[in-house]
Amino acid sequence: MKDLQNLDEVESVRNLLKASSLRCTPARIAVLIALRRAKSPQTHADLSNQLVPLGFDKATVFRNLTDLTQVGLVHRTELGDHVWRFEIREHHEDESSHPHFLCVNCGSISCLELGIVSETNLKKSAIIGRVSEVLVKGECVTCFAAK
Ligand SMILES: [Zn+2]
Ligand SMILES: [Zn+2]
Repeated sequence: MKDLQNLDEVESVRNLLKASSLRCTPARIAVLIALRRAKSPQTHADLSNQLVPLGFDKATVFRNLTDLTQVGLVHRTELGDHVWRFEIREHHEDESSHPHFLCVNCGSISCLELGIVSETNLKKSAIIGRVSEVLVKGECVTCFAAK
């Protein structure tokens, strides 16, 4: 977050906000930039740890996450531990987003390519219900390598 004044990045985030008819407030810009730079879905606590030192309070971060989720710029996911995690929603993604990998050992979460579950299989699963989240569990490379 040191180079928050990276102008190209601020500009593209401003354009996203404008396209969603949200006002470009410093907090919204900071939240979006933090999410764009994140390598995995972030909790409200993760984001607060980054943004509170920059002068944004936790309630502001939370309110902005809610606003950004409502307009669809941010995707909110719950992976079985009752903690919301937030990430940038890519343009090509529908509501169900991409699958996530949860390490059962260290609890780390990684984004997976959409391809791990085929669109056809998702459609077939409609017999059971509407899929809102695909979660894959296992051991991450770090934990696996440590054995
Ligand atoms: Zn792990
Ligand atoms: Zn993800």
